[in-house]
Amino acid sequence: MPNIEYPYMPAGRFLKYAAVDDPFMVEASKAREECAGDPLYPVGIVMVKNGQVVARAGNGFNRGPGKVHVCPRIVLDCPSGTGYELCDLHDAPGHSERMVLQAAWEAGVDPAGADVYMFGHWWACEPCWTALIEAGVRDLYVVDDAHERFSRDKVYGETLTPSVRTVSLVGFDGEILEAVCGQLGELGLEQVDQDADVRCVMEGDGVRCFLKDEIEPVYKVESGDHLARQLRNVLRQL
Ligand SMILES: [Zn+2]
Ligand SMILES: [Zn+2]
Repeated sequence: MPNIEYPYMPAGRFLKYAAVDDPFMVEASKAREECAGDPLYPVGIVMVKNGQVVARAGNGFNRGPGKVHVCPRIVLDCPSGTGYELCDLHDAPGHSERMVLQAAWEAGVDPAGADVYMFGHWWACEPCWTALIEAGVRDLYVVDDAHERFSRDKVYGETLTPSVRTVSLVGFDGEILEAVCGQLGELGLEQVDQDADVRCVMEGDGVRCFLKDEIEPVYKVESGDHLARQLRNVLRQL
């Protein structure tokens, strides 16, 4: 193994590594497809006891894939590992490690002595390690190239591209209109007058972003110097 520097590792513990085609890793990969409620950094996980998968989960409270989530951490350019308190989807209780423990307990399975296989991330944060250790989990496995395969840049490169195509801008003018149009161009989004996939409505205190046919905004960007940049960060997540 290359010498990987992990943001957190409890004393006396180590990650274990499994090949991407390891049968339990394949199960974790399926859990990522089927259970992860986080569309931006989806993670799947399975718990294995006595050679059997006894619990499976994904991160983001198992909301299932495809739900739109605009993460304030991304809008506000929070550095890696910070700003979790801003987001109810990305905070530690929704991480896959905690979710699989919960799934096990709900199924009446004791996690003590079990291993967990995680697909979609390359390290575990302190609250997750603590929860695994307290539950008596033996080893946490990641894919042997997880630090490259699931690096933040790699994952966001795949997930942080807009799936919407068209945007309408209401109430914008002058410099801010110009700045926002520039951002739309960079993202490959087309500005249209009606039937847009996303409506951005400028009001006194900020910009409300609405998905097509929705009455509640999916996100509100506060007015300020970084408005165009933050609006770009919202659109990348839609
Ligand atoms: Zn988030
Ligand atoms: Zn965690």
